[in-house]
Amino acid sequence: MSDRKEAKEILIEGLPTACAECGALICLRQQVLNLALGEDETLLCLPCLAQDNESSSEELLVRLAQYIQGRDCFLKEWSRYCDRSYCPNPDGCLPAVCFGSGT
Ligand SMILES: [Zn+2]
Ligand SMILES: [Zn+2]
Repeated sequence: MSDRKEAKEILIEGLPTACAECGALICLRQQVLNLALGEDETLLCLPCLAQDNESSSEELLVRLAQYIQGRDCFLKEWSRYCDRSYCPNPDGCLPAVCFGSGT
């Protein structure tokens, strides 16, 4: 028995959980990425965010992850995914990048 929460239950309450652009499900870390960009109403998935920012998903994730590490309020949420097994969408999320630096 484990009392570990299902990853899909670990989300920021009150924020959308689907991409406003393509309808893909957004995980906790993707919610935080949107917050880091100052967006808390129409959230986008990582690939759509990247397109929006004229960047690759990987570049955007690396850049925002660094920014988030320096902000306690974002980091608190970000860290609720302890390791890559929490990510519900390994294809859309680049877990190797997201969790690559041990965060
Ligand atoms: Zn999308
Ligand atoms: Zn994820």
